[in-house]
Amino acid sequence: RAKAGLQHGVCFYDAELDERTRLRRGLGADLRQAVARGELILHYQVQTSLQTGAPRGYEALIRWEHPRLGTVPPGSFIPLAEESGLIVPIGEWVLRTACAEAATWDPPYRIAVNVSAVQLTEQDLAGVVRDVLDETGLAPARLELELTESAVFADKERAQETLRAIKAMGVGIALDDFGSGYSSLEVLRSFPFDRIKIDRSVIASPGTEQETLAFVQAIMSMGRIFGMSALAEGVETPEQLAVLRSAGCEEAQGFLFGRPEPVEAIRAARTGDPTGQPVAAERVPEVA
Ligand code: C2E
Ligand code: MG
Ligand code: MG
Ligand code: MG
Repeated sequence: RAKAGLQHGVCFYDAELDERTRLRRGLGADLRQAVARGELILHYQVQTSLQTGAPRGYEALIRWEHPRLGTVPPGSFIPLAEESGLIVPIGEWVLRTACAEAATWDPPYRIAVNVSAVQLTEQDLAGVVRDVLDETGLAPARLELELTESAVFADKERAQETLRAIKAMGVGIALDDFGSGYSSLEVLRSFPFDRIKIDRSVIASPGTEQETLAFVQAIMSMGRIFGMSALAEGVETPEQLAVLRSAGCEEAQGFLFGRPEPVEAIRAARTGDPTGQPVAAERVPEVA
């Protein structure tokens, strides 16, 4: 029966399964091998200072270069990876790869890494972060972890403990997607975030610019009570940028500033070298 087969990581296709279920099972089986085959890659999207217009950091965003399907976006496989627990080794790979890359950057931009709820509950995340910083030599202050509200509330006490330990190392933490779904004010009081990432829906939703401005200002003044700065996500138009500037939003990210790009593009932009070779290969740390 299908159930017994699944326990051994094998999928038996059933004519009654709908196309989506089939695709999910197929992808899930492929995903196990994707890790080993090196099909996962990171793209990097710039995070820009609205005061100076200069880059401040990059967010690492995972993609799956599937041999048949082409580039699969994270929304299509991260949920599968979370269900199967594969997100733990995948998340560790993301953290190690992004930190090793960022350690070669000059200027020393910040690197932001997304962390899933499962990584908080199923492993010693603080220990993993400490090991990766040791291995890559990245200064802790240059790393920022991005967590959503649902991730930290999955196990509140455990998340509080883990995030305290991570902050004690000097690593930053950001609240991702704030203002989407059922965002609560409680999350701002319960966790020591350094930064609020204002969700794309806040600035993209219909309504007047005055309304958007007031909304952004309200989120920012709430954050300031707790010493948090703000970064607006998904900025696509000069009009949106103008609203964020008048709200005094510190940083922004979005297609207006740059799309998520392969690592070679980031290196080429930084060095002016179209071949995209690392600036100083000798500074790439040894990673076990
Ligand atoms: P996120 O962390 O909120 O990332 C922002 C998403 O918005 C990214 O989608 C990015 O490509 C997209 N984006 C950036 N600027 C714009 C814009 O101006 N307009 C629009 N329409 N979209 C923009 P992406 O790369 O598909 O990632 C989706 C989500 O997948 C991420 O949302 C994050 O929750 C998750 N994710 C990505 N990489 C990882 C990872 O390494 N680990 C984990 N656990 N989750 C990841
Ligand atoms: Mg993010
Ligand atoms: Mg987000
Ligand atoms: Mg998101």
